[in-house]
Amino acid sequence: MTTDAIVDVKEVVKLYGPLRAVDGISFQVKRGEIVGLLGANGAGKSTLMKVLTCYVVADRGSATVAGVSIDSDPVGVRRHIGYLPENAPLYNEMMVRDFLLFVARIRGLAKAKARERIEWAVKACGLEPKFMATIGTLSRGYRQRVGIAQAILHDPDLLILDEPTSGLDPIQIIDIRRLIMEIGKTKTVFFSTHIMQEVEAVCNRAIIIAKGKLVADGSPADLKMKFAEKGRLVAKIRGAAEADVRAALKDLPGVGKVHAITHAELGVVECHLHLKDGAAANEAGEKFYAAARAGKWSVVELRTEGVSMEDAFLKASMGVYGKEATA
Ligand code: ATP
Repeated sequence: MTTDAIVDVKEVVKLYGPLRAVDGISFQVKRGEIVGLLGANGAGKSTLMKVLTCYVVADRGSATVAGVSIDSDPVGVRRHIGYLPENAPLYNEMMVRDFLLFVARIRGLAKAKARERIEWAVKACGLEPKFMATIGTLSRGYRQRVGIAQAILHDPDLLILDEPTSGLDPIQIIDIRRLIMEIGKTKTVFFSTHIMQEVEAVCNRAIIIAKGKLVADGSPADLKMKFAEKGRLVAKIRGAAEADVRAALKDLPGVGKVHAITHAELGVVECHLHLKDGAAANEAGEKFYAAARAGKWSVVELRTEGVSMEDAFLKASMGVYGKEATA
């Protein structure tokens, strides 16, 4: 294990009868990373998280959290982890304050320490207005905040959150994402989601699993480069004839097919430059500007288009699911 790895998973297998819910997964998470775990329904995300948090026992393989083995010291592992399961198990009849006191007691925090940590977690999670509210009366967004507050109460190194934004409205989603990013400044966060934009907005790394297997691992930008369709540059030009534009751009380094169309009513030629494999959009953009200068065209717009995390996710998963992944 490298010294900065907080999670080290090696060839973990979890079987439910004949079903290989987690099928030989290996990866490491470094301290300070915010890692998004992506996968279709039933891909094995929750099961992997349950193995890491020692709620289920792996059938094969090994894993450590902060150097502590999930096999030999599950209680030790849990000390390093704050965990929010998929449906935050909260006691509806309790007040937020009492619930957090209860969790602090279970975590073995002394009275003064418990008070200090609760104050910190309540502030970090924006729970001040609901501190004395009964949990059963809270919105789903506030319930998730309570779930996250209980997970960070004992100041763990690693937060594991199972679909923390699932079922929230758009405003609540933004709030919880902000909270995850804030917490991610001081802690390592490993969370699952179905929302691709979430990964791009929040994570510096994404792990994609399909049918229990790891199929991709990298930064969102890297995964888009690796798996998504190559992007294209879209430009709008004035002062040029469509045929001249096409001719000038056809052999541009890094550019494959070029489509150009004239919008006579706007007086512009719109062209789409499809980037070749491995071509960087910014380099192709520079070449485009050089061609525009040479042709004395006036460029009214230049933008990149067409690379998305959805594409990357589908491409990465397709090897395992076949065409159904694109359904
Ligand atoms: P979702 O996004 O729907 O939450 P997931 O990626 O978290 O899915 P898991 O919940 O880990 O997937 O489930 C992986 C597979 O294991 C699924 O086929 C699921 O039906 C199965 N499974 C999960 N828990 C059990 C269990 N206790 N007993 C039997 N099968 C299970």
